[in-house]
Amino acid sequence: MTPTVSLLLLLLLGLSQAQPLQEEVIAEDVPDDTMDITTRILTSNNATDEILLEGDLLAPRTRNAMMCWSQSCQWKKASNGQVMIPFTVSSEFTSWERQKIDRAMKAFHSRTCIRFVPRQNQYDYISIENKVGCFSSLGRVGGRQVLSLNRQGCVYHGIIQHEINHALGFQHEQTRSDRDNYVRINWGNINQRMAYNFHKQATNNLNTPYDYSSIMHYGKTAFSIQYGRDSITPIPNPNVQIGQRQGMSYWDIMRINRLYGC
Ligand SMILES: [Zn+2]
Repeated sequence: MTPTVSLLLLLLLGLSQAQPLQEEVIAEDVPDDTMDITTRILTSNNATDEILLEGDLLAPRTRNAMMCWSQSCQWKKASNGQVMIPFTVSSEFTSWERQKIDRAMKAFHSRTCIRFVPRQNQYDYISIENKVGCFSSLGRVGGRQVLSLNRQGCVYHGIIQHEINHALGFQHEQTRSDRDNYVRINWGNINQRMAYNFHKQATNNLNTPYDYSSIMHYGKTAFSIQYGRDSITPIPNPNVQIGQRQGMSYWDIMRINRLYGC
Protein backbone atom coordinates (compact mmCIF):
# COMPACT_ATOMS: atom_id res chain seq x y z
CA MET A 1 0.00 0.00 0.00
CA THR A 2 1.39 3.40 -0.88
CA PRO A 3 1.85 5.91 1.92
CA THR A 4 -0.83 8.17 0.40
CA VAL A 5 -3.38 5.39 0.36
CA SER A 6 -2.63 4.33 3.90
CA LEU A 7 -2.81 7.91 5.12
CA LEU A 8 -6.16 8.29 3.38
CA LEU A 9 -7.42 5.10 4.97
CA LEU A 10 -6.22 6.31 8.33
CA LEU A 11 -8.05 9.58 7.89
CA LEU A 12 -11.22 7.82 6.69
CA LEU A 13 -10.98 5.52 9.66
CA GLY A 14 -10.67 8.57 11.86
CA LEU A 15 -13.67 10.25 10.26
CA SER A 16 -15.82 7.17 10.60
CA GLN A 17 -15.08 6.81 14.30
CA ALA A 18 -15.93 8.86 17.32
CA GLN A 19 -14.68 12.42 17.53
CA PRO A 20 -11.67 11.84 19.82
CA LEU A 21 -9.94 9.42 17.45
CA GLN A 22 -10.33 11.79 14.56
CA GLU A 23 -8.76 14.61 16.53
CA GLU A 24 -5.95 12.47 17.70
CA VAL A 25 -5.08 11.17 14.26
CA ILE A 26 -4.85 14.73 13.04
CA ALA A 27 -2.99 15.91 16.12
CA GLU A 28 -0.45 13.14 15.65
CA ASP A 29 0.11 13.71 11.94
CA VAL A 30 0.10 17.48 11.77
CA PRO A 31 2.70 19.20 13.94
CA ASP A 32 0.92 21.49 16.38
CA ASP A 33 3.18 24.46 15.98
CA THR A 34 0.65 26.92 17.24
CA MET A 35 1.57 26.37 20.86
CA ASP A 36 4.98 25.81 22.42
CA ILE A 37 5.54 23.25 25.13
CA THR A 38 5.57 25.74 27.98
CA THR A 39 2.36 27.41 26.98
CA ARG A 40 0.71 24.04 26.66
CA ILE A 41 1.97 22.81 30.02
CA LEU A 42 1.16 26.04 31.83
CA THR A 43 -2.27 26.28 30.25
CA SER A 44 -3.01 22.72 31.31
CA ASN A 45 -1.85 23.46 34.83
CA ASN A 46 -3.94 26.56 35.43
CA ALA A 47 -6.61 24.64 37.26
CA THR A 48 -4.52 22.35 39.42
CA ASP A 49 -4.61 22.31 43.22
CA GLU A 50 -1.11 20.87 43.50
CA ILE A 51 1.72 23.05 44.69
CA LEU A 52 3.84 23.31 41.59
CA LEU A 53 7.26 24.89 41.24
CA GLU A 54 8.34 26.39 37.93
CA GLY A 55 4.97 25.50 36.51
CA ASP A 56 5.10 21.73 36.56
CA LEU A 57 7.36 20.44 39.32
CA LEU A 58 5.65 18.97 42.34
CA ALA A 59 6.90 20.60 45.52
CA PRO A 60 9.16 18.08 47.25
CA ARG A 61 7.89 16.56 50.47
CA THR A 62 11.28 15.85 51.92
CA ARG A 63 13.88 17.85 50.03
CA ASN A 64 13.66 21.54 50.75
CA ALA A 65 15.88 22.58 47.89
CA MET A 66 15.29 21.59 44.31
CA MET A 67 18.39 19.50 44.21
CA CYS A 68 18.85 16.16 42.65
CA TRP A 69 22.56 15.62 42.50
CA SER A 70 23.03 12.86 44.91
CA GLN A 71 22.44 9.21 44.26
CA SER A 72 19.48 9.37 46.61
CA CYS A 73 17.10 10.74 44.03
CA GLN A 74 18.45 8.77 41.12
CA TRP A 75 16.90 5.55 40.00
CA LYS A 76 18.97 2.48 40.74
CA LYS A 77 21.06 0.78 38.15
CA ALA A 78 20.81 -2.97 37.86
CA SER A 79 23.86 -5.22 37.57
CA ASN A 80 23.31 -5.47 33.81
CA GLY A 81 23.97 -1.73 33.51
CA GLN A 82 20.36 -0.82 32.86
CA VAL A 83 18.32 1.53 34.99
CA MET A 84 14.97 -0.14 35.53
CA ILE A 85 12.12 2.22 36.28
CA PRO A 86 8.84 0.50 37.14
CA PHE A 87 5.69 2.29 36.05
CA THR A 88 1.95 1.96 35.95
CA VAL A 89 -0.49 3.71 33.62
CA SER A 90 -3.96 4.64 34.81
CA SER A 91 -6.82 2.80 33.11
CA GLU A 92 -8.37 6.19 32.37
CA PHE A 93 -6.09 6.51 29.35
CA THR A 94 -7.31 5.16 26.03
CA SER A 95 -5.22 2.63 24.16
CA TRP A 96 -4.23 5.39 21.73
CA GLU A 97 -2.97 7.52 24.61
CA ARG A 98 -1.14 4.57 26.09
CA GLN A 99 0.54 4.07 22.74
CA LYS A 100 1.77 7.63 22.82
CA ILE A 101 3.14 7.18 26.32
CA ASP A 102 4.75 3.98 25.16
CA ARG A 103 6.30 5.68 22.16
CA ALA A 104 7.74 8.47 24.30
CA MET A 105 9.29 5.89 26.63
CA LYS A 106 10.75 3.89 23.74
CA ALA A 107 12.85 6.90 22.77
CA PHE A 108 14.61 6.59 26.14
CA HIS A 109 15.13 2.88 25.60
CA SER A 110 16.77 3.29 22.23
CA ARG A 111 19.21 6.03 23.22
CA THR A 112 19.94 5.61 26.94
CA CYS A 113 20.24 2.83 29.51
CA ILE A 114 16.89 3.81 31.04
CA ARG A 115 14.30 1.03 30.81
CA PHE A 116 10.70 1.59 31.78
CA VAL A 117 9.21 -1.68 32.94
CA PRO A 118 5.62 -2.44 33.93
CA ARG A 119 5.51 -2.52 37.73
CA GLN A 120 5.12 -5.87 39.41
CA ASN A 121 5.71 -5.36 43.11
CA GLN A 122 8.60 -2.89 43.22
CA TYR A 123 8.39 -0.29 45.97
CA ASP A 124 9.55 2.75 43.99
CA TYR A 125 7.62 3.46 40.83
CA ILE A 126 6.11 6.11 38.59
CA SER A 127 2.34 6.16 38.48
CA ILE A 128 1.19 7.87 35.30
CA GLU A 129 -2.19 9.43 36.01
CA ASN A 130 -4.75 11.71 34.43
CA LYS A 131 -4.69 14.49 37.03
CA VAL A 132 -5.36 18.18 36.50
CA GLY A 133 -2.30 19.34 34.60
CA CYS A 134 1.07 18.03 33.42
CA PHE A 135 3.54 17.64 36.27
CA SER A 136 6.10 15.40 37.90
CA SER A 137 8.37 15.20 40.90
CA LEU A 138 12.06 15.83 40.57
CA GLY A 139 13.95 12.56 40.50
CA ARG A 140 13.06 9.42 42.40
CA VAL A 141 11.04 10.30 45.45
CA GLY A 142 10.53 6.89 47.02
CA GLY A 143 7.40 4.77 46.85
CA ARG A 144 4.68 5.64 44.40
CA GLN A 145 5.20 8.96 42.65
CA VAL A 146 2.63 10.53 40.40
CA LEU A 147 3.48 11.76 36.95
CA SER A 148 0.40 13.56 35.72
CA LEU A 149 -0.53 13.75 32.06
CA ASN A 150 -3.92 15.32 31.80
CA ARG A 151 -5.75 13.67 28.91
CA GLN A 152 -6.92 16.96 27.50
CA GLY A 153 -3.66 18.87 27.41
CA CYS A 154 -0.62 16.76 28.16
CA VAL A 155 -0.58 13.60 26.06
CA TYR A 156 1.92 14.90 23.52
CA HIS A 157 5.24 13.27 22.71
CA GLY A 158 7.33 16.24 23.87
CA ILE A 159 5.38 16.85 27.06
CA ILE A 160 5.51 13.20 28.07
CA GLN A 161 9.28 13.24 27.60
CA HIS A 162 9.58 16.55 29.45
CA GLU A 163 7.79 15.19 32.50
CA ILE A 164 9.71 11.93 32.39
CA ASN A 165 12.94 13.93 32.35
CA HIS A 166 11.87 15.64 35.57
CA ALA A 167 11.26 12.21 37.09
CA LEU A 168 14.78 11.23 36.06
CA GLY A 169 16.13 14.22 37.99
CA PHE A 170 16.39 17.01 35.44
CA GLN A 171 15.31 20.59 36.00
CA HIS A 172 14.35 23.32 33.57
CA GLU A 173 17.16 24.50 31.37
CA GLN A 174 16.52 28.18 32.06
CA THR A 175 17.09 27.70 35.79
CA ARG A 176 20.64 26.42 35.21
CA SER A 177 23.29 27.98 37.38
CA ASP A 178 24.97 29.54 34.32
CA ARG A 179 21.85 30.67 32.50
CA ASP A 180 22.56 34.41 32.79
CA ASN A 181 25.22 34.02 30.10
CA TYR A 182 22.65 32.63 27.68
CA VAL A 183 19.28 34.14 28.42
CA ARG A 184 18.00 37.37 29.87
CA ILE A 185 15.10 37.12 32.28
CA ASN A 186 12.82 40.09 31.74
CA TRP A 187 11.64 40.54 35.30
CA GLY A 188 9.45 43.49 34.32
CA ASN A 189 7.36 41.21 32.11
CA ILE A 190 6.78 38.63 34.83
CA ASN A 191 4.07 38.71 37.42
CA GLN A 192 5.84 39.20 40.75
CA ARG A 193 4.04 36.29 42.32
CA MET A 194 5.46 34.08 39.57
CA ALA A 195 9.01 35.41 39.75
CA TYR A 196 10.18 32.48 41.88
CA ASN A 197 9.78 30.28 38.83
CA PHE A 198 12.82 31.97 37.31
CA HIS A 199 15.18 31.66 40.26
CA LYS A 200 18.43 30.00 39.40
CA GLN A 201 19.04 26.55 40.85
CA ALA A 202 22.24 24.86 41.88
CA THR A 203 22.00 22.51 38.93
CA ASN A 204 24.37 19.74 38.06
CA ASN A 205 25.17 20.65 34.47
CA LEU A 206 27.20 17.50 33.84
CA ASN A 207 29.72 19.37 31.70
CA THR A 208 27.18 19.93 29.00
CA PRO A 209 26.66 23.24 27.19
CA TYR A 210 23.64 25.43 27.78
CA ASP A 211 21.05 24.00 25.42
CA TYR A 212 18.46 26.28 23.87
CA SER A 213 17.01 23.28 22.07
CA SER A 214 16.50 21.27 25.25
CA ILE A 215 13.06 19.85 25.80
CA MET A 216 13.50 21.17 29.34
CA HIS A 217 13.75 24.80 28.20
CA TYR A 218 10.74 26.99 28.62
CA GLY A 219 9.46 29.20 25.82
CA LYS A 220 9.87 32.93 25.50
CA THR A 221 6.53 33.84 26.99
CA ALA A 222 6.43 31.54 30.03
CA PHE A 223 4.66 33.27 32.92
CA SER A 224 4.53 36.50 30.96
CA ILE A 225 2.13 39.10 32.29
CA GLN A 226 0.90 39.97 28.85
CA TYR A 227 0.77 38.52 25.36
CA GLY A 228 3.70 39.67 23.27
CA ARG A 229 5.94 40.54 26.19
CA ASP A 230 8.64 37.93 26.53
CA SER A 231 9.79 36.71 29.90
CA ILE A 232 12.89 34.96 28.53
CA THR A 233 15.13 36.37 25.80
CA PRO A 234 18.09 34.41 24.42
CA ILE A 235 21.31 36.44 24.35
CA PRO A 236 23.10 37.68 22.38
CA ASN A 237 20.78 36.51 19.59
CA PRO A 238 17.15 37.02 20.64
CA ASN A 239 15.93 35.06 17.61
CA VAL A 240 17.23 31.72 18.83
CA GLN A 241 14.33 29.31 19.23
CA ILE A 242 13.52 28.07 22.74
CA GLY A 243 10.69 26.01 24.16
CA GLN A 244 10.60 23.25 21.55
CA ARG A 245 8.36 20.27 22.21
CA GLN A 246 9.22 17.79 19.46
CA GLY A 247 11.42 15.53 21.51
CA MET A 248 14.69 15.23 23.39
CA SER A 249 17.67 17.09 22.00
CA TYR A 250 21.13 15.64 21.54
CA TRP A 251 22.23 17.12 24.88
CA ASP A 252 19.08 16.00 26.69
CA ILE A 253 20.08 12.46 25.78
CA MET A 254 23.76 12.99 26.60
CA ARG A 255 22.82 14.26 30.05
CA ILE A 256 20.77 11.19 30.86
CA ASN A 257 23.66 9.02 29.76
CA ARG A 258 26.09 11.01 31.89
CA LEU A 259 23.94 11.22 35.02
CA TYR A 260 23.22 7.51 34.96
CA GLY A 261 26.58 6.41 33.63
CA CYS A 262 25.02 4.62 30.67
ZN1 LIG B 1 8.82 21.14 33.55
